[in-house]
Order: sequence, then C-alpha cells, then structure tokens
Amino acid sequence: MQKNLTLKLLPSEAASDTTIKDYIASSEVLNPSSVSGYIINKHSIDARGKQVWINLSVTAFVNEPFHQRELQSFTFQQVEKAEKKVIIIGAGPAGLFAALQLIEKGIKPIILERGKDVRARRRDLAILNKQGEVNPDSNYCFGEGGAGTYSDGKLYTRSSKRGDINRILNLFVHFGAEEKILYESHPHIGTNKLPHIITAMRHKITECGGEFLFEKKVTDFIITNEKITGVRTG
Ligand SMILES: Cc1cc2nc3c(=O)[nH]c(=O)nc-3n(C[C@H](O)[C@H](O)[C@H](O)COP(=O)(O)OP(=O)(O)OC[C@H]3O[C@@H](n4cnc5c(N)ncnc54)[C@H](O)[C@@H]3O)c2cc1C
Repeated sequence: MQKNLTLKLLPSEAASDTTIKDYIASSEVLNPSSVSGYIINKHSIDARGKQVWINLSVTAFVNEPFHQRELQSFTFQQVEKAEKKVIIIGAGPAGLFAALQLIEKGIKPIILERGKDVRARRRDLAILNKQGEVNPDSNYCFGEGGAGTYSDGKLYTRSSKRGDINRILNLFVHFGAEEKILYESHPHIGTNKLPHIITAMRHKITECGGEFLFEKKVTDFIITNEKITGVRTG
C-alpha cells in the first residue's frame, strides 16, 4: 500500500534515510521494517523561527516493494532529413527548449546564435573579468545557454500560465540536473552544472539532426509575400 504523509523534521533528521523511515512508521503505528521506501514529493525549509524545520511531503511504500520515482521520458526523433525546418534565433533557454520540442514533433531546428558555445564563452568571461574587455557578442548575456547560464541557476518560478513547468524540470533532469529539483520548493541547479546541461542539450539536438550555427547574429528578416521566409546574418 502507498501512503501520502507530511513530516516536519529537524535538518539532521531529514538528512537521515533511516530516521525518515522511522518517522513514517511511527506516524502510522507500523513496524519500521514494513516501510520499504519513500519518494519525496515536496521539500521545503521553514526558517522563520529560531529552530529551522524541514517540511517533507512523501509517498511511503508500506508492505509492498519500493518503486523509484518515474521520470518523464522524451522521444526525440531523427530530423536531419525532415521536410519541415524552423530557424530559431538565439540559443538561450527559449531557443533550446523550442529546439527540443520541435525535434519531438519531427521538425528540424536550425539555431542561429550570435555568441559562442558555452565553453568558448567562458574564456570571453575570463577576459571580461580580468581585463575589463567586453566582447559584444560573447558575454554574461550573449552566447549559448543565454543570459542566466553563468548565474547559479535558481528555478523559482511556479507560474503555470504559460505551460507545464514540470516538463522543463524533467528536461533539466534528463540532461543531467539532480532529481531533487523536481521536488524542492526552491530548486537550484548550480553554476558548475548548468554549462554541462546546456552542452548535453546541444549534443542531443545535433545527434538528432538539428543544426547549431554560432557567431551568427541575425540582422534582418527576409520577407516574401508578407511572410518571413528567412533571415540575414551579419
Ligand atoms: C545575470 C543574470 C542572472 C540570472 N539568473 C537567473 C537564475 O538564477 N534563475 C533564473 O531562472 N533566471 C535567471 N536569469 C534570467 C534568465 O537568464 C532569463 O529569464 C532567460 O535567460 C531568458 O531566456 P531567453 O531564451 O528568453 O533569452 P536569453 O537568455 O536572453 O537568450 C537569448 C539568446 O539569443 C542570442 N541572441 C540575441 N540576439 C541575437 C541575434 N540578433 N542573433 C542571434 N542570436 C541572438 C543571445 O546571445 C542569447 O543566447 C538571470 C539573468 C541574468 C542576466
């Protein structure tokens, strides 16, 4: 049987798997050995008072085998020879997630990015920080990964007006983020991890036949019969 429970624990208790299982057992008057495992659905920190508490909402597996969390799966198609192609301007989050969604739908994305790939971009940031020289196309705002790539990757939005946030969180996990971003109330990817995740996304996009063109700044649209049919780059 599976039971949904809410636990309020001290930070040291919440860090111990055995203690969490003991709490689950005691709150349901069970033998601890009957709890085969649990999945955390929500994790939040209450630091309003002197004593910090961890609030956990869990699904406990009682008297039945434990099943790991089911992660969302994605089917990326081979699009190299796809009839439909879409030009994406910019390899920021919007461009990368759009490219992945197009690939799921069998459409080939061609991404034009004015900056450099996420690794080469780091070298331009070092020059910026040490020598104060700004490369107008490769800096904290421009380049693969977009504006927040070299920040610490907090994912605090809970807006549901513009689509499914869980899909985005699951995509991040699919490409290497820690699973805990799926249940933490203030998920945080980490500056050191973001560039690797962005690189993994690019590898998947190109492996499926999508194209990346770096150092291609779009300067104009080509309009034919009132339709955008292409772009000009500078
Ligand atoms: C310093 C900083 C820290 C941030 N930290 C966080 C954070 O921790 N958590 C969080 O959720 N959000 C954070 N953000 C906000 C987040 O970065 C943005 O919400 C997000 O990047 C917007 O994504 P986007 O794809 O719409 O645009 P952008 O990220 O701006 O991406 C646009 C891309 O298009 C490229 N481009 C622009 N013009 C052209 C052109 N003419 N031709 C070709 N390519 C072009 C750019 O180089 C860029 O790669 C931060 C933003 C900044 C500036």
